[in-house]
Amino acid sequence: MLKVDDINVYYGNIQALKGVSLEVKEGEIVTLIGANGAGKSTLLKTLSGLLKPKSGTIHYLDGSISGKAPQSIVKTGISHVPEGRRVFANMSVEENLELGAYLRKNTKEIRKDMEHVYELFPRLQERRKQISGTLSGGEQQMLAMGRAIMAKPKLLLLDEPSMGLAPLMVKNIFQIIEKINREGTTILLVEQNANMALSIADRAYVIETGKVVVSGSASELQSSEQIKKAYLGGH
Ligand code: ATP
Repeated sequence: MLKVDDINVYYGNIQALKGVSLEVKEGEIVTLIGANGAGKSTLLKTLSGLLKPKSGTIHYLDGSISGKAPQSIVKTGISHVPEGRRVFANMSVEENLELGAYLRKNTKEIRKDMEHVYELFPRLQERRKQISGTLSGGEQQMLAMGRAIMAKPKLLLLDEPSMGLAPLMVKNIFQIIEKINREGTTILLVEQNANMALSIADRAYVIETGKVVVSGSASELQSSEQIKKAYLGGH
């Protein structure tokens, strides 16, 4: 579904991604793990068109998306939930969700999908008139994910959905990620919480200072001594 081949991405003179290649197959949950500053968010931003690779190719479905603008990438069915869950703080939950569907026209279908988001996240339904800036961190994460789903993505890019959340909320969010995947959305998940990420993923890539250093099935990585030491708390 997605094939990234040898991309190099820079911020000015600083090279953040160094020849990164990876693949996501339809229906999978693929996770990208790595320390702070490894380049995980940079990769997601490149996939959604916020950054442009200096070289390399990004193949998605039937064509190339390398260098395309974010809006045309959204139209191809890629939605990005950025780190820090940027919701529109002055707008209600419902208005945020409506904005997620801004490229769509069929109001009946949009309504139906909003009901679906409320089924996935009952907490959002209870709070649909609430101003989003007053939601808790976990609720804002749900809203950011709900808004991305309103674009009807085929591929959902999630950047650190567990960041700053209490363990119970993390568990809840991960269960919902699995559910969204079972319903047919392919997922590329960036996480520092490698244990949780590997527990729901099919495959994983480990990224260190801009390079993919290890890849394999999630279960392979979970049992690797090297990965355990570096990313899973050393047990
Ligand atoms: P984290 O988990 O801390 O978010 P990450 O793996 O997502 O880490 P990135 O945010 O992709 O890491 O950053 C990769 C590298 O690029 C880091 O060295 C970072 O300092 C640098 N970088 C990120 N954004 C910019 C920017 N706007 N300008 C310059 N350098 C940047």
